[in-house]
Amino acid sequence: MIKDKYLPLLKKVEKPGRYTGGEYGSTYKDKDKADVRVCFCFPDTYEIGMSNLGVKILSHCLNKLDYVWCERSYAPWDDYEKLLRENRLPIYALESGNELKAFDMVAFTLQYELSYTNVVNMLDLSGIPVYAAERGEDYPVIIGGGPCSYNPEPVADFFDLFSIGEGEESLCEICALLRDCKKEGKKKSEFLRLASHIPGNYVPSLYDVKYNDDGTIQSVLPKYPDVPAKVTKRIIADMDKVDFPTKFEIPFLETVHDRITLEVFRGCTRGCRFCQAGMIYRPCREKSCEVLDKCAYESVMNTGYDEISLSSLSISDYTEIDKLINKLLAWTEEKKISLSLPSMRIDAFYGELMKKVMSVRKSGLTFAPEAGTQRLRDVINKNITEEEILNSCRMAFDNGRQNIKLYFMNGLPTETDEDIKGIALLAQNIVNSYFESGRPGKFLNVTVSVSCFVPKPFTPFQWAAQDTIEELERKQRLLRGEIKTKKITYNYHTAKVSFIEAVFARGDRRLSEAVAEAVLRGQRFDGWDEFFSFENWMDIFEKCGIDPAFYANREREYTEVLPWDHISCGVDKAFLMRESEKAKEEATTPDCRTKCAGCGANSLGGVKRCCP
Ligand code: SF4
Repeated sequence: MIKDKYLPLLKKVEKPGRYTGGEYGSTYKDKDKADVRVCFCFPDTYEIGMSNLGVKILSHCLNKLDYVWCERSYAPWDDYEKLLRENRLPIYALESGNELKAFDMVAFTLQYELSYTNVVNMLDLSGIPVYAAERGEDYPVIIGGGPCSYNPEPVADFFDLFSIGEGEESLCEICALLRDCKKEGKKKSEFLRLASHIPGNYVPSLYDVKYNDDGTIQSVLPKYPDVPAKVTKRIIADMDKVDFPTKFEIPFLETVHDRITLEVFRGCTRGCRFCQAGMIYRPCREKSCEVLDKCAYESVMNTGYDEISLSSLSISDYTEIDKLINKLLAWTEEKKISLSLPSMRIDAFYGELMKKVMSVRKSGLTFAPEAGTQRLRDVINKNITEEEILNSCRMAFDNGRQNIKLYFMNGLPTETDEDIKGIALLAQNIVNSYFESGRPGKFLNVTVSVSCFVPKPFTPFQWAAQDTIEELERKQRLLRGEIKTKKITYNYHTAKVSFIEAVFARGDRRLSEAVAEAVLRGQRFDGWDEFFSFENWMDIFEKCGIDPAFYANREREYTEVLPWDHISCGVDKAFLMRESEKAKEEATTPDCRTKCAGCGANSLGGVKRCCP
């Protein structure tokens, strides 16, 4: 519980509930009986962190171990940070109120690149030296995980260890090793050497990085023969065996996703070529309806929430979607518990499912065509036709919906101005399809939301250049000019933010200096408009002698050593190259539920069947 010395500060900040702890459902243990104390840090606000399912699952798995106590901490908003620094007070864990230096291990989930400054700032606010090389025996082991750990190099210098892939089992193995090493009085360096032997663990300090004169990577090689040259991600083979939390902290203040999130399956078989999640979470593994129904019921009983979100990358692809919805509706309707099905694919809407979705979902509908023309949808392998898009929208309109949100990207590989104009044309055709049946359109609103394409590691587009900021902004202006009706609302992401994201997404270790410099200059919360400063970043890159365009706007050769080549997500590089070539030929690859595309994910340990 929060220490008294912090209480006076809470009166001076907004949303003090972010910093108090004490929520219903929190886990408390006797710290003197815990052999290993872990603090799980979310490098963003409490409201966002409390909605992250990964942190809930992993801290639950760790707290199931009787010798581990896993607590939480979130990035303090700038008002609280200012007071903490003025009063020379470190940040702390919400359960015990202990400062992070007191822990054996401090874990960070890396969900997006723009959170990197918050990671380093939280270390600094804990009085923990930010560089791993400067931390002696008395400081906690700093471990990282999450989607960005598939290319951890830009922040590698700040971490002792990364757990690549699904952490339910590996984090427990790491804690067991840490307990044993502590008991045997082993040094941190000995612990890290042994930890590098646990599959899925990457210890950056045990690898040498060499660069070519042109700035590209020459090699990333282990310093010792017992350290793996390639670190392959961990996965949970049988999803029904995942120990899923049905009892968890109920926040004091409203969070981003204030509801039960029920993970239905992991992975996706669709193979969209821009989508990193669709590759790194392969192979596709489903939970059974029985396990899901039981989890949902227990979660409602333990938390009192009245909404359940069925979470996955593409919920309509769940093999038994009808059976699952029927099973849940059997008790949720009577209890007035609503169901939400985010990530519905636009081509998955058929009468029965649509009716069910409409009966449980009151709000508007969101679809992701991603590209405005069939040519470009084939390039990105979206496998959706304009007719399917229009049919689903007509069905939504027939069911009384007047709000449709459409996600697109600009800056995709091979994109032309015709493709940009195609976005406006498609949106206009959807508006027309509404009026074709003579409905009154007073409240019709079609939102076109366009993000900037960011090439990501472990995708077929990992070699592609991001469009320059000028080109992205030109296309944003072009699209604005093509939208002629007020029935279409158009919003788009800031190209400069996506540029910085692209720099770190495919960066290497030389970028860590820029992150540290940014924190020194007060850069935080880069994912928030009010804090993001493009000019600051460009000045920092210049000071550090870094050319950001080298990372964001440069096409890579297939022969180039990529900063993440010593890590494997189970999908073969050869497959990614094949898909990259097919994109250039505007050729599609079918959903691998119908025909295996040979990505290699079925070679990952323990996987019996690749697709349900
Ligand atoms: S191995 Fe084949 S079936 Fe399995 S995820 Fe890859 S492409 Fe799909």
